[in-house]
Amino acid sequence: MQDRIAEAISSVYRRISHAALRAGRDPMEVQLVAVAKTVPPQAVKEAVDCGVRLIGENRVQEAREKIAVLKGDLPDSVRWHMIGHLQSNKAKLAVELFDVIQSVDSLNLAERIDRYASAMGKVQKVLVQVNLSGEEGRSGVSPEGLIPLLEALGGMSNISVEGLMTIPPLPETAEDARPYFRMLRRLRAEAEERGFSLRELSMGMSGDFEVAVEEGATMVRIGSLIFGRRAQ
Ligand SMILES: *Cc1c(COP(=O)(O)O)cnc(C)c1O
Repeated sequence: MQDRIAEAISSVYRRISHAALRAGRDPMEVQLVAVAKTVPPQAVKEAVDCGVRLIGENRVQEAREKIAVLKGDLPDSVRWHMIGHLQSNKAKLAVELFDVIQSVDSLNLAERIDRYASAMGKVQKVLVQVNLSGEEGRSGVSPEGLIPLLEALGGMSNISVEGLMTIPPLPETAEDARPYFRMLRRLRAEAEERGFSLRELSMGMSGDFEVAVEEGATMVRIGSLIFGRRAQ
């Protein structure tokens, strides 16, 4: 298991580097988020032993259990990222557990996060999730809703918006995702023209991360390529 994870991670790093260099980017601009949903704590530890520092989880409860098991076993430099849809009633726990919440997509959720973060004396780092395809049932603010949401978030003193995140519709080929990645980068440029500072673009998963890196991703979220295919 250890060898398999180590090999998978070095292969992912290599592919990130090649994609970045193809696009004339510095590979160091791209961070790997190892997506550990459904993955046992021991495998997370192995990924961290291989140098991974950002761990992504999509369910608050599962993350809580894993973080509790691994407490004291991981270096302080490890950061937990919430990448799944966050229900408002889990916002408090999410603020307690996560260094970054990548899935902020509504004013209501942001207000709760801001309130709990304030009570905890924390500035919560977040990304705003954008739904670029307009698919029903997919989380994320619409492209038209992005600037108004960023304006509202700008007024919250315990939230720091670090960038944007998106999940394109399940692509048949990695190239199918390219227009969405490009769209997210354009949206960031538009927001920056209006004075928002958004460093991070979290985009790209196991099937399409190289295309995402070519299009400017600063964080790729990779699960199955590292930990193997999930049962669910
Ligand atoms: C599961 C998940 C990933 C990783 O997916 P893989 O295809 O296994 O790499 C990335 N982002 C989000 C939001 C996810 O839920």
